[in-house]
Amino acid sequence: MPWFWEGLKSGVRTLRPRAPRLPAGVTPGRPATTAVPAGASLDPELCPVGALAPQDGAIAVDFDHCIHCMRCRPPASPVQWQDDYRWALAAAPPLPPRFQRSIHVRILDAGDCGGCLSELRQLFGPVYSLHRYGIYVSPTPRDADVLLVVGPVTVGMRVALEETYAAMPDPKRVVAVGVCALNGGLFADSFAVVGGASRVVPVDVTVPGCPPPPLAILHALELVTGSSREAREVGDS
Ligand code: SF4
Ligand code: SF4
Repeated sequence: MPWFWEGLKSGVRTLRPRAPRLPAGVTPGRPATTAVPAGASLDPELCPVGALAPQDGAIAVDFDHCIHCMRCRPPASPVQWQDDYRWALAAAPPLPPRFQRSIHVRILDAGDCGGCLSELRQLFGPVYSLHRYGIYVSPTPRDADVLLVVGPVTVGMRVALEETYAAMPDPKRVVAVGVCALNGGLFADSFAVVGGASRVVPVDVTVPGCPPPPLAILHALELVTGSSREAREVGDS
């Protein structure tokens, strides 16, 4: 019975006994660009994708390529980690204000490994319950305001992505979820992969991470609807 109440309180359904727990939706974070402490140095072999680089006395993180492998978590490296979930970046203003209370989202799996889709699926479960924000999954692109693309765009899915985008009414926004959707990620050099979603359709909001946690994806949707402070700033500029 105590486990039942623990699950209800924390939103975490399963965990090993006595394992340290994280509240639902709180990620272990991601590396942050860090000033290099005196005497510390960066092992060039540490990051498997070369996403860490010295820059002006600091260690800079390339979020477009970080695969969230956690090798650089302290104490293994001088890189500090931040535990917020505001990972998304908007390159376009939010949708008009009438979309703030209700948007319909079309999800397109362009070649996902299962990780990004799994995180996305969490958002529509009882813990996050996106419907209470007026965010709904659309069964057809013809009713969708937002296209969420996950995975690297495979050669076989290129036309599906093009046609899905073309079928959506204006105004519309495209959100690329995960580094694969940003630039192909670990699969960028595959013969079967075209690259990131921006190779095929215009991308308005990017969410780095491999995979990004549910709250980071929610942050992207906030940028699309204009319900976050950053979104309003992009809209004003
Ligand atoms: S988490 Fe992994 S991939 Fe990301 S910067 Fe650190 S070492 Fe590189
Ligand atoms: S970003 Fe990572 S989790 Fe998402 S599809 Fe690519 S490999 Fe999978």
